[in-house]
Amino acid sequence: MSVNRVAFISFHACPLAAPGVGKAGGMNVYVRQLAAALGGLGVAVDVFTRKHPDAASFIEEAGPLVRVVHLPGGGDDVAMEGLFDHLPCFLDAVADFCSDEGLTYDAVHSHYWMSGWVGQRLARRMGAPHAVTFHTMALIKMQARAGESEIQERQQVERELIADADRVVAFSPHERDSMVRLYGGDAERITLAPCGVDLSRFQPLERSEARLRLGLNGEKVLLFVGRMEELKGLDLLVHTAAQMEPGDGMRVLVVGGDDGKQGEGERIRRLAHDLKVEDIFDFVGRVDQAELPVYYSAADVCVVPSFYESFGLAALESMACGTPVVASRVGGLSTVVQHGRTGYLKSWRCPEAFANSVEMILSSKALQDSMGDAARLRAQDMSWERVAERMLAIYEHEQAGHPQ
Ligand code: UDP
Repeated sequence: MSVNRVAFISFHACPLAAPGVGKAGGMNVYVRQLAAALGGLGVAVDVFTRKHPDAASFIEEAGPLVRVVHLPGGGDDVAMEGLFDHLPCFLDAVADFCSDEGLTYDAVHSHYWMSGWVGQRLARRMGAPHAVTFHTMALIKMQARAGESEIQERQQVERELIADADRVVAFSPHERDSMVRLYGGDAERITLAPCGVDLSRFQPLERSEARLRLGLNGEKVLLFVGRMEELKGLDLLVHTAAQMEPGDGMRVLVVGGDDGKQGEGERIRRLAHDLKVEDIFDFVGRVDQAELPVYYSAADVCVVPSFYESFGLAALESMACGTPVVASRVGGLSTVVQHGRTGYLKSWRCPEAFANSVEMILSSKALQDSMGDAARLRAQDMSWERVAERMLAIYEHEQAGHPQ
């Protein structure tokens, strides 16, 4: 037996969507990169996702052996909160597609709880093993930030999946432990598999050249990369900048889009104005991933002030570009960033501590360079190819133990 063909269920996160704004972020990147890397190992991957207006066609080739299949799962006007009701229709559409095409899969891998609901049922119908990666979980998010509200069904579905899926994939020890503690998960059935980074894309560029391209001169440059939403903790970055004494000038580049719905961009701009640091902030908006290495390479420090990150791809991308990271000591960031080696991990919500760490790096070129080198070296071990090999081993293990 071997694993030749895998179905990914990525109900609301199309791997072809441009990340960095609204709901499109790390999960979309993860699904696209993991599918591509599995394709590179000779495993065919069909990614099933809900139809959306930007989809170029019903089936899109997304690289060697990878197809993205867009199927009905609620109209364009359905908000995230209403999507749960459309899962049965999406499940039927996937099952019909498979039976029309005569397709079966050696494993089903779901991404996020709603996909898990679909994947669990599809896998049982096909007699295939089911692996689920949650990406984020309701109870962990709610613990990380007071005021996070969640769709009513989410916790229950997550609990069922933790109990019923053949394999649960966790990005970090923190996530695995939380699954056990908060959801009563069985640690034996949870496998740790961190995310990866595209090492061919995220490479250090000459800092001076990168700065020139961004119109920067000799300023100290702090960088944030991520969707503008409250969980990203951008207010902490503004407070941090306000604590600092920039000396010969400082710029804070905020890369990532604001979907306008949450009003986070506006809230952060207002805060920067109130704290009198708006002049040093540059809200760049969403940037294509192909351009991001220029930003990471131009920066002295990348700041990741999130309330919570299940992994934190932006931190790893920065490290791959040789730029140290100062991040909240939460979730997957505690695994990605090595405190004192590749950057600093700081207690949550503490601008003084963030400012001290950033200033420490900015004040010593030797420290910045050695952290940058260590960061780049660490990222070298975290390619998507590695992640795909690990995931393939998981599928094979589950296939071997699965009743056919
Ligand atoms: N990203 C991007 N353009 C932007 C901002 C972000 O392509 O303007 C990408 C970034 O490269 C990263 C992903 O979006 O791969 C964000 O992932 P992360 O894990 O940092 O955060 P999440 O979106 O999962 O909360």
